[in-house]
Amino acid sequence: MRARHVRRAAPVALLASLTLISTPGISFADPAAAPTQQNVQAPLAAKQTENKQAEKSLDEQIASAEKALDRAKKQTEDAQKRLDNTTSVHDKAKQATADARAEVAEARNAVTKAEAALQRAEQRVEEESSGFSVAGVVNSVLGFLGSDVTNSMSEDLEAKRGAVKDAEKAVEDAEREETKAERAKVNAEKAHKQASAKQDEKQSELDKLNERKQAEEAEKQAAEAPAGGGAAAAAAPAAAPGVVKPAEGTFTSGYGARWGTTHYGVDIANSIGTPIKSLMSGTVISSGPASGFGLWVRVQHDDGTISVYGHINESLVSVGQRVEAGEQIATMGNRGQSTGPHLHLEIIENGAKIDPLPWLEARGIVL
Ligand SMILES: [Zn+2]
Repeated sequence: MRARHVRRAAPVALLASLTLISTPGISFADPAAAPTQQNVQAPLAAKQTENKQAEKSLDEQIASAEKALDRAKKQTEDAQKRLDNTTSVHDKAKQATADARAEVAEARNAVTKAEAALQRAEQRVEEESSGFSVAGVVNSVLGFLGSDVTNSMSEDLEAKRGAVKDAEKAVEDAEREETKAERAKVNAEKAHKQASAKQDEKQSELDKLNERKQAEEAEKQAAEAPAGGGAAAAAAPAAAPGVVKPAEGTFTSGYGARWGTTHYGVDIANSIGTPIKSLMSGTVISSGPASGFGLWVRVQHDDGTISVYGHINESLVSVGQRVEAGEQIATMGNRGQSTGPHLHLEIIENGAKIDPLPWLEARGIVL
């Protein structure tokens, strides 16, 4: 703002030169411009770092996460050692304080005893020297000796009082050491806690990366596997989705030449009333009497294939009805040119009656 004011007040030449060196909108003299630019650049830089991180391959990220975890583990171990050391120093210091306090108590006890003994001795000397006696001389000698004894007892008492003071000083020193050791222990505990938390964090980072890698590998494997999926499918094809075995029973006759004619389907024998199901989803195009088949049902499937179910005992569907794969459409019978209850199944692909056996086997269904 100040710059604009200066510009307006400046002569035309100065105005021109200022205009030349100034970028539009932002003036060099404007102190607000610099921080604004920084604010714009800071998140941009962060975003670039983020992108770089994403560019790093997952393996590289795992390798560096493993290194970070190893470092964190080492730090936790070191912190544990320091904690063990400081704990042991603190325990020793506590014991030293207790010992010093016991010494003070002992020294005080000795002083009390010495004081009592001195008192008794002084009393006796006084009694002896002031009491009536036959020989005054003996009394005075005893009095002299007695004072000598009490004098030495007094000295001993003083020494014992000095010992108490020394012991008290030792307690103060021990307490100071204990406080110091406790502080070191508390710091070591804090450091150990932080190091453990960091180790946990690094561990979970690594776990997440490994999970991501596993997920990516699973995805890759799924993408590489053949449609219909997996090694199991390559060995023996699983039933293609939406294709169902039309009836349970015994495979009694295949496609091909039979009794001087051609048998255009496969036969599955079972008892009358055995459920017959639609191979795939589709629309019923025939349901009722049919020459040679007695009764039949025909279903046109969504891919154009037609399946034919002959010799049925009873149809459960009607023309135009939509049926699902596996849905029961009829019961097994013995109608028409048939020598026993069975399902005669035909598959018509592009207008031709094909061998149903390989068609079914390719879809994982073995009769
Ligand atoms: Zn047949």
